[in-house]
Amino acid sequence: MKTVLLPSGERVSAMGQGTWFMGEDASSRAEEIASLREGIELGLALIDTAEMYGEGESEKLVGQAIAGWRDQVFLVSKVYPHNATRKGTLAACERSLRRLGTDYLDLYLLHWRGSVPFAETLEALVELRAMGKIRHFGVSNLDLEDMQEFCAETAGNQVATNQLLYNLTRRGIEWDLLPWCRQQRIPIMAYSPIEQARLLRHPKLVALAQRHGLTAAQVALGWLLANDDIIAIPKSGKRSHVRENAAVLARPLSAEILAELDQIFPPPQSSRPLEML
Ligand code: NAP
Repeated sequence: MKTVLLPSGERVSAMGQGTWFMGEDASSRAEEIASLREGIELGLALIDTAEMYGEGESEKLVGQAIAGWRDQVFLVSKVYPHNATRKGTLAACERSLRRLGTDYLDLYLLHWRGSVPFAETLEALVELRAMGKIRHFGVSNLDLEDMQEFCAETAGNQVATNQLLYNLTRRGIEWDLLPWCRQQRIPIMAYSPIEQARLLRHPKLVALAQRHGLTAAQVALGWLLANDDIIAIPKSGKRSHVRENAAVLARPLSAEILAELDQIFPPPQSSRPLEML
């Protein structure tokens, strides 16, 4: 099973499971829970959620899905920037833990940069770690300058990841942010890895995938997994899709396919502002 090394020396699955928009519709709840569980069994044992998703409903669903399975899962959640004050972060984490039915998170991320100084959020994150409520902390949606500023704060260089929008159609980070993170040995967690399913309608990608006996989702995910320091977190609330996605872990893309993808989706030729969804 392909894994990615965190700065702490711990290894996590190179493919996890996103949960945005999960837990919001009662009629799909059972299938979503079954999908998350099947994903864990297939090795997608990192689950990404956030207090923002369904205003806590996604965390509740994840809590139900991992009940009895907690030690098999690397659990990630995120604090809203407006909650990321010293006291606010502690309180938000407590609420997330309650909804998730656990007493610790494996990784807690600042969802994006708000108006609270990084130093204040970091104090809270370090405190949560000392209390055993989180094992690691990280950030999301920080562009290069923000990332450099965060890492320059006390304990900021202990950041475990930067979770970023990264897929075949969003390659902007390859210009400067990704190389910088690589230099610092900070792995990237690639969100919306299939561009919220829009990539699945890309005619050239679909044609390429068919020629190689793969699906467009598998090619999009395989492209990310060709890197040693990228964790892809596709979201799927359908068991058949989870199976299809997980199959990529055992089937790395050939150099020929990767070269074809560079032709269809060229890397950036200049600096671009960080994109977010
Ligand atoms: P995504 O994973 O790129 O795409 C999800 C969509 O693709 C869903 O509609 C899903 O539908 C469909 N899908 C998945 N696998 C499929 C397959 N094999 N065949 C066909 N359709 C498939 O988009 P995302 O949910 O935005 O991103 C993934 C996760 O990243 C999120 O869930 C969230 O945890 C995280 N995220 C973080 C941020 C941030 O700011 N940090 C922002 C966005 C997302 P089905 O459910 O029907 O399979």
